[in-house]
Amino acid sequence: MNSHSDVVRTLSASIGPGEPLHRYSDYLKRRFGGKTYRVSVDAGFTCPVRETGRPCTYCDVRGSRAPYLGSANSLHEQIKGGMSFLQKRYRAEKFLLYFQAFSNTHSSVPTLRRIYDTGLSCSQFVGLIVATRPDCLDEPRAALLAEYRSRGLDVWVELGLQSANDATLRRIRRGHSVAEFGRATRLLQGFNILTAAHVILGLPGEGAREVIQTARYLSELGVNGVKFHNLIITQGTELYREYRAGRVSPPTTAEHRELLISSLENLSPEAVVMRLTCDPPRDIQFVPEEQPDKAAFYRDLIDEMNRRNTWQGRSLDNSRRHAVP
Ligand code: SF4
Repeated sequence: MNSHSDVVRTLSASIGPGEPLHRYSDYLKRRFGGKTYRVSVDAGFTCPVRETGRPCTYCDVRGSRAPYLGSANSLHEQIKGGMSFLQKRYRAEKFLLYFQAFSNTHSSVPTLRRIYDTGLSCSQFVGLIVATRPDCLDEPRAALLAEYRSRGLDVWVELGLQSANDATLRRIRRGHSVAEFGRATRLLQGFNILTAAHVILGLPGEGAREVIQTARYLSELGVNGVKFHNLIITQGTELYREYRAGRVSPPTTAEHRELLISSLENLSPEAVVMRLTCDPPRDIQFVPEEQPDKAAFYRDLIDEMNRRNTWQGRSLDNSRRHAVP
């Protein structure tokens, strides 16, 4: 097992012609030395913006969970089922526990501690990953998360940003600003917690200029990872109404690839690229109907970046890169 910093230094140094991406799978392999996967759980958290009744315009409000999901028993079952699936399908050997659904710091510190402890007690995990919103993090919550580092776990917090453009955040009703995202990221960095940002490419009013701005902002801030999502407009959302009124249209797969390349060229090679597309909903209508096959999209992206002789961070001035600690 190599340290996080050593792995990032080695992998980022290899980015260049023919090796255009700092891939999450390579990072995990070097970091933990075995087939390492994330076990996703829904611990029954909610989201403060959904609670207002005016969720983000792209949020599918029918995605609420059954009430039983908050129980310890449910967590145990989810973890057992998730690990068994990953072992059978990918021969997974090591696991990170991933609190994925909604805002996983949106509760009191004692409740959070109980839920994280319950999940972690279900197996021998190598890491804890918590997804949340920037406005659901303060010092006591960051301090709680940092405690798990002293238990030998890697601790990551995934923060939703979507865009580093305040006008876009207002338009999609995110309910937080770019500055709040920066504050939460720096708070976590102060506790030596690894950070990842969620970004959506192709948001209303955004093109190459805005996604480049977002990638540069994240590079300067020194986030450790980025998850890219293509914009999917789901029936029932405010954005779907805008789509039906002809005011917005989601990017095609080819347009998403273009935005992604622009973004990657302006993203620090030290940042791990954790995903390139999102998983479309299974039981709700959405646009665009044609969704990229993940593996084919990945191959196509790599081929295109190699054909253009470009790579992650190629357009980034060194002064915009946050040094690996
Ligand atoms: S933060 Fe996430 S869950 Fe909350 S309203 Fe926005 S998209 Fe929905």
